[in-house]
Amino acid sequence: MLTRRRTWSALAAAAGLALLTATTPIADAQPAPARGLYSLQGAHTSAQRTAVANAGVDIAGSSDGTLSVVATPEQAASLRANGFTLNQVGDFDQLLAQRSKGTGVYRAGDFPSGDEGYHTYAETTAELQKAAKDHGDIAKLSSVGKSFEGRELNLLTIGGGDNKPGVLFTCNQHAREHLTTEMCLRIVNRFTDGYATDPKIKEMVDGHTIYVIPNVNPDGSEYDISGGEYHGWRKTRQGQGVDPNRNWDYKWACCGGSSDNPGAEDYHGPSAFSEPETKAVAAFVDSHAQQIKTHIDFHTFSELVLWPFGFTEDDTTEGMTQEEAKRFQDVGKEMAGTNGYTPEQSSDLYITDGDVNDWAWGKHKILSYTFEMYPKNGGGLDGFYPPDEKIGEQTTRNDAAVDIIIREAK
Ligand SMILES: [Zn+2]
Repeated sequence: MLTRRRTWSALAAAAGLALLTATTPIADAQPAPARGLYSLQGAHTSAQRTAVANAGVDIAGSSDGTLSVVATPEQAASLRANGFTLNQVGDFDQLLAQRSKGTGVYRAGDFPSGDEGYHTYAETTAELQKAAKDHGDIAKLSSVGKSFEGRELNLLTIGGGDNKPGVLFTCNQHAREHLTTEMCLRIVNRFTDGYATDPKIKEMVDGHTIYVIPNVNPDGSEYDISGGEYHGWRKTRQGQGVDPNRNWDYKWACCGGSSDNPGAEDYHGPSAFSEPETKAVAAFVDSHAQQIKTHIDFHTFSELVLWPFGFTEDDTTEGMTQEEAKRFQDVGKEMAGTNGYTPEQSSDLYITDGDVNDWAWGKHKILSYTFEMYPKNGGGLDGFYPPDEKIGEQTTRNDAAVDIIIREAK
């Protein structure tokens, strides 16, 4: 499957125009519009927040009617004209550059200076290889496929075997949400290192199969830290990028919960599963659908526990009975009781379509949640890029909730 750009490159090369395309890359032809980071007030209802999302801005966090958004000056003016209050925190790209300076010592290929505690894709892969090597009796490293740029989509399988109820953890659909990769690594290390010494861990591992995919979007996360600076990148790296969490093939692009503009941060892609990453993870789930019972997909930020459906504001609808909705609410509230997050139906935040929870439940009846991790409020760039000192406390914070979602796989 070729994208339009790759088709053009192939045609140009065939016509002897390779030099032209090489010296005039389309992406560099126009300067990128200035992006501001804003605190937006007055978005108290799901309908209001959906309207903000539909304006094409990048919503990074939501708390008590205040959104943290990245917008162009035109988008900001349009939102103000529609009654929202926007205070500019700063120029987004300048803030990113400042945030990236850190200690001033940058090692090529690593996170920006000062944040080296985060794991790059290579470091994450090495951690998974070590877990599989040190715990070969219970852990196995494999891959569900390759990213657009050819990186393996690593899968670490812990415990049980194919006949034990399965639970799936996925992280890093959104490129810049690096704390989520650390969350998946926390799960891997806790259930492998703890197996020999902690009877509770041993019981959970023996009774289940735990599947962990720490990097669903490794091209995006590597791009986001390239060159020693954060780029504020959210999407995949095919074409102008696709929001992978609007690309799943259930009610895809149905309901105004994603954009058909390729430049938008919530662009749903030219078709459902246009992205090799979502397609590969979905194929893995399809092939284990009888076994996988529960799922958490980790994101940042806002400290929320979210459940389907996202495409409709209705609590119950076709594919979601009252009893099923109550189970989502009960388990969601129980998990939120352990980590202090706010539990709610996904569409209570704003309408989304084509997200992973709607697909996992809608297609396979997997009890599927999204966790929006630390922090609750944005406060400048800390919502996007919490300092690496936060990794330990903010991943262990979810240990008890992880235990609950494993318990619910039965
Ligand atoms: Zn996200």
